[in-house]
Amino acid sequence: MDNVYKQLKLYGKVKPNVLLSKFSNFNIGGPADFLIEVTETEKAIALLNYLSGEGIEYLILGGGSNVLFPDDGIRGVVIRIKNEELRMKNNVIEVDAGVQLSELVRASIEHKLAGLEWAAGIPGAVGGAIRGNAGAHYVFTGGEIKDSITSVRMWRDGEALELTALECEFGYRDSIFKHKTDVVLSGKFALAPGDAKKSLEMTQKIIAERKGKQSSQPSAGSFFKNVPLTKWKQDQSRLPARFLSYKKIAAGWLVEQAGLKGFRVGGAMISEEHGNFIINAGGATQADVLAVVDEVKQRVYTTYEIELEEEVQIIH
Ligand SMILES: Cc1cc2nc3c(=O)[nH]c(=O)nc-3n(C[C@H](O)[C@H](O)[C@H](O)COP(=O)(O)OP(=O)(O)OC[C@H]3O[C@@H](n4cnc5c(N)ncnc54)[C@H](O)[C@@H]3O)c2cc1C
Repeated sequence: MDNVYKQLKLYGKVKPNVLLSKFSNFNIGGPADFLIEVTETEKAIALLNYLSGEGIEYLILGGGSNVLFPDDGIRGVVIRIKNEELRMKNNVIEVDAGVQLSELVRASIEHKLAGLEWAAGIPGAVGGAIRGNAGAHYVFTGGEIKDSITSVRMWRDGEALELTALECEFGYRDSIFKHKTDVVLSGKFALAPGDAKKSLEMTQKIIAERKGKQSSQPSAGSFFKNVPLTKWKQDQSRLPARFLSYKKIAAGWLVEQAGLKGFRVGGAMISEEHGNFIINAGGATQADVLAVVDEVKQRVYTTYEIELEEEVQIIH
């Protein structure tokens, strides 16, 4: 252990025995053996090579807005990706994985570029957003990472590689990075010339709309993925019209229809404001959240024969 600690210090700021609840929006999680913050891309690559070469377990963490950590913590190393450079060239922004998504939105507007307004108000870092192909839809606008990204630089099995957007295999809250042990290092976004005033107004409208809908209590955002319309086995006239044009059924609506708003186990509860938010109403454990998840999945299945799939990354 002492030797690992010494080695880790070569790559970044290391802390032993760190409570992961402090690094998760959910405020849930026991201690990690080590947490290391890496601010330089080349050091992140060297660290990944060292850990994989030594067979030491590690987990990548961005902003911690989409993870549910285990109550007994993590044996091994949690790597907090904190490279934070942002390079602009004409209408292309190359952004490191550790930059906050909100900072990318701000910088794009400052440089009079349009196309990322939809991402206003989404917490977390760019690496996590690329991995999950983050997205949001409103009546007046919407988008996903895949709409403007042109390439991604990432670490895979000892090598830093650049993938084209096509090679990233983006789908609804999905990408190739979710199915491999790839680590996203940076991404290039090609944006359109825009009007900074209009973009800013749009982001303000989005943030106001999001505030009205989501709970201010700790959560990991939408817990379940929305469901493709093709999975709906009942009469479509029972669905709100917006689901028909979006071709997806909001998971939160299914949860609400199944009568689960306010459903609670220990400190974990289905938000009263949003059926797809499981909130930490105070002292929640991973076990509490998973008990709520089980009940929701069971009830939605019994009511609609639909299997909900988790969007949040549950770490066991
Ligand atoms: C209040 C709230 C609202 C939200 N609203 C939205 C929304 O509207 N739309 C939406 O899409 N999401 C939303 N989310 C979810 C979340 O913000 C996004 O999924 C975000 O992009 C996750 O980024 P992160 O850096 O926090 O990832 P983390 O939570 O740190 O990590 C998530 C997963 O990605 C992996 N990961 C992180 N960084 C990297 C990397 N560099 N390389 C490889 N793997 C990595 C982690 O290992 C983990 O498995 C919301 C969350 C909250 C709490």
